[in-house]
Amino acid sequence: MAAHSVLNRLTRRLPHLLDRRVRLGVPGLSRAGKTVFTTALIHNLMRATRLPAFQMAFNERLRRARLVPQPDVTIARFPFEEHLQRLARDRAWPESTRQISEIRVEVEYEIPSAWTSPSHLNIDIVDYPGEWLLDLMLINEDFQSWSRKTLEVAARPAHRELARPWIETLQNLKNTDPPDEALAEKLCASFKSVLRDFRSGPETVATTPPGRFLMPGDLEGSPALTFMPLDLDPGEAIQPGSLAALMETRFNNYKAHVVKPFFEHHFRKIDRQIVLVDVLASLNAGPSAVTDLESALDNVMMAFRIGKHGFLSRWFSPRADKVLFVATKADHLHHEQHQRLTDVLRLLVKRAIARSEAAGADVGSLAIASVRATREQTISERGQTLRVVSGVLEAGERFSGKTWDGETESLIFPGELPANPEDIFRGAVLPGSLRFPRFRPPVFATELPLDQLTLPHIRLDAALKFLLGDRFK
Ligand code: GDP
Repeated sequence: MAAHSVLNRLTRRLPHLLDRRVRLGVPGLSRAGKTVFTTALIHNLMRATRLPAFQMAFNERLRRARLVPQPDVTIARFPFEEHLQRLARDRAWPESTRQISEIRVEVEYEIPSAWTSPSHLNIDIVDYPGEWLLDLMLINEDFQSWSRKTLEVAARPAHRELARPWIETLQNLKNTDPPDEALAEKLCASFKSVLRDFRSGPETVATTPPGRFLMPGDLEGSPALTFMPLDLDPGEAIQPGSLAALMETRFNNYKAHVVKPFFEHHFRKIDRQIVLVDVLASLNAGPSAVTDLESALDNVMMAFRIGKHGFLSRWFSPRADKVLFVATKADHLHHEQHQRLTDVLRLLVKRAIARSEAAGADVGSLAIASVRATREQTISERGQTLRVVSGVLEAGERFSGKTWDGETESLIFPGELPANPEDIFRGAVLPGSLRFPRFRPPVFATELPLDQLTLPHIRLDAALKFLLGDRFK
């Protein structure tokens, strides 16, 4: 090889060769599928044969992947083995994340030329409760604007009744009076439970911050979580020593001592992001859940609005150069519907995509299943051909007029997603017309050791190829 061409190749590779580490961010609201995704990703990397699109892109050059000690010793290790055990041996989904954790996978691979081989790449993944991501929405808010927005959410038709007793008490409070600590504490506790009730079902996302009120982590019971929005008049000045002043101080402390360190520490250095979205659960819950999801995603992805010089860049500077938006749990649908699912996803994250692109990131979108729990079938019913999925519904799942036992296989026609994704906002998807009940994980061979199991998936390999492909060149 001519000397100048070797030099050219070296120069092109140099940045990657010097940085043998990639930090993969997995943002997703609660129940989006982060824990299952991270577990499946690690397992499949360690069994690289199960990632055909990924392997083929590199001519079978991946040699092996293994877990090595994580760089940050101050946070818990992602309990990969525990999660895999639960999936494969108990045939149950892993516990969703309640705390922040981290894990490092070292991938060893051959480089095409012989001048330095083999090489390795460390992939660091941080997992955290999806609820905490909601706190991104607070970054630009002051106490007044946060109060106003939260009370607007509480006034929406889907929430009004749930919030009524708490709102009525707020309206009777004198914001200018000195604070009655005991009463304030009681009201803050009811605010927390109102926030939790806003979720339209256990499988739908929580969309209203503060995130730690929904999932406190190590702040359980801490006074840092004792504040609430107040019903302030527009332009009302906050009197020193008043209840409003106390709530404002606590709100600002929450931002400074809880939100800021979290994002500063964990978001600043993200190189690649895979944003997980559970589109199907929101569609299942109806148009207001879809609208909530769209606006929550827009708000949390606002990090990309800032470019290099915005207000937020003082706190953290998202520099991800590749962002992949993913609709999870695609195994609930026959593959003929997957393109429509991707189209709905693209619509829901349209504003977020525009923002990521404007910040110079390479952006993609995909429908995936991290762990495929269903099989596809085609059946005929009353002269009609239906594309269905089959699998075992979770014990206690209520579906089709029955409560399921967690053992019986059932056939499900999930319905059809609209050809025009915009229809999801126009009420064209009638409540109950789509069916996405929860499935149990698939059956795994019990005689095989855990590290030799095959976890079926849909397009996990394509996701990896998009996110990390260039780092193995
Ligand atoms: P997290 O809160 O974002 O960490 O969400 P999890 O990873 O815990 O996933 C929440 C739930 O979604 C799980 O308990 C499963 O019921 C379901 N789930 C996640 N990924 C998949 C998947 O690939 N296929 C199916 N069928 N269900 C999934």
